[in-house]
This record gives sequence, structure tokens and C-alpha cells, in this order.
Amino acid sequence: MASLFRTIRFDGETLRDLGVNDDGTLWNPNGYSADRVRAAVADAEETLRERRKVSAAKGAVTNKRRRDKRIHDIAKKIIGGANLSSTSCVCCGRALTDPETIERGIGPECWSHVLEAIEESRR
Ligand SMILES: [Zn+2]
Repeated sequence: MASLFRTIRFDGETLRDLGVNDDGTLWNPNGYSADRVRAAVADAEETLRERRKVSAAKGAVTNKRRRDKRIHDIAKKIIGGANLSSTSCVCCGRALTDPETIERGIGPECWSHVLEAIEESRR
């Protein structure tokens, strides 16, 4: 995929409008040296990869926190005697086909987490 940048900070200098096209040729209207363009683009791509990794890790933490909260809320409802009967899991939305899971409205995998949350809240 083409990798084009409006600006890249590289070696203490700001380079403008540079990149590597799909066919491997350079986009280099400002006439920087080819080596410099390739090095700066490689560096910028590495920075982007790092940023994506960091934000993916943050996203995973956020997702886990949301899931934990959902599980906790469902555990509270069950303790309160709510009927959650449903043909899709109230935790994750997956379709339920087994009569026992439909009756409780929670799939087997989520159920183990909900049970843990119920145990925890009783401690
Ligand atoms: Zn589920």
C-alpha cells in the first residue's frame, strides 16, 4: 500500500509531501534525496505502528472493563431474581440454541464469568 505523508519530522527537520507509492517509486515533489525519503518514511511508518499498538492495547483494556461491568450488572440482576430468558446471550449477544441457556439467557462461556461475579458479590 502507498505510504504518503504530508509531514515527517526526521533528524530534527520537517520534511513535507513525501512517501512511497504502490509501485515502490517515491512521491518526492520537493526533491529530497531518495535515501532520506526512504529512511524518513520507514521511520514514520514505525511510529505509526507503535501508536496503533498502544491504542489497540488501550482498546483491549477498555473492552475488558466494559465486559466486566456488564457481567457484574447481570450478576446483580440475577441475584435480584430477574428473569433474563432470551434466545441471545444477554452478555455478548451470541445466539442461544440450547433450552437451558435460553432459559437463563446466558451462554455457557459468559455464564462461567457471571457465576464468578455472583460468587464475588457474596463474599
Ligand atoms: Zn455470552
